[in-house]
Amino acid sequence: MDWLPDAIRDPHGRSLAWTETADPKGVLHTTESSSWPSYRDWADCPHATVLPTPGKGVTVHQHVPFSRASFALVHGSGQQATNTDYAFQFELVGTSDKNGPGYYWPAADDAVLLDLYKKVIKPLSDAYRIPITAPTFKPYPASYGANGVRLSQATWDTYTGWLGHQHVPENDHGDPGAFPWARLMELTSTEDDLPLTDDDAAKVAKAIANQELGKEGIGWAVALQRIYNRPVPTAQDIAAAIVAQFKTLPAGTATVDDATIARIVKAVWDEGATRLVR
Ligand SMILES: [Zn+2]
Repeated sequence: MDWLPDAIRDPHGRSLAWTETADPKGVLHTTESSSWPSYRDWADCPHATVLPTPGKGVTVHQHVPFSRASFALVHGSGQQATNTDYAFQFELVGTSDKNGPGYYWPAADDAVLLDLYKKVIKPLSDAYRIPITAPTFKPYPASYGANGVRLSQATWDTYTGWLGHQHVPENDHGDPGAFPWARLMELTSTEDDLPLTDDDAAKVAKAIANQELGKEGIGWAVALQRIYNRPVPTAQDIAAAIVAQFKTLPAGTATVDDATIARIVKAVWDEGATRLVR
């Protein structure tokens, strides 16, 4: 996989050859800006940039294919490689600093975190066998410079997993600050122990087909048509969309009652609407 399936391809600047393709790692940065950075300087380009929409999710622009290294880290000459040491790099638009510009990532909302996981962390980890683990993230500004969590060159070389710019040797930046990794893990761990069964999904799908599809009318049909690229969505299509949405709910809330059905209908609808504007 050279490109994330849910990313918009937006090639930028230069890339480098990997000097090592063992011990893959994902590196998180924050742009310290409130909107898309320009990356006019080729040296500043990560693999992808992630724009959060609060309460909704993320939009991902990928600049460099994963077959090449990107360049958003200091890379000391004659020292252990950083950018080219199989480090897949992602800039999160926003800030690590409570007083910084834009979206404050340490307090990222659930929808944004889950979408980051779904569009970036999970697919990349699956494709390149990156363990979905991370060291402690220190808050900014304590994360700047020699922060107690920065890896040695030797440890960085053999580290595999996720981490932040603040953990990379030869660098002094403290982003992404107190990235809420533990909360992200808590949110995503519920995917494996959902109380939702196939029968539950069928029940919800039937309820939606009977009641809500009529209510939402043409919008539904158009959205689902675009998602599945076929004229009429099948019950399985609807059920699959519903199951996907159930998996974004916190554990214990995915029970089949009217309120949940209404919430899921709205979430599936929002998802359809999101895809329509891409
Ligand atoms: Zn950085």
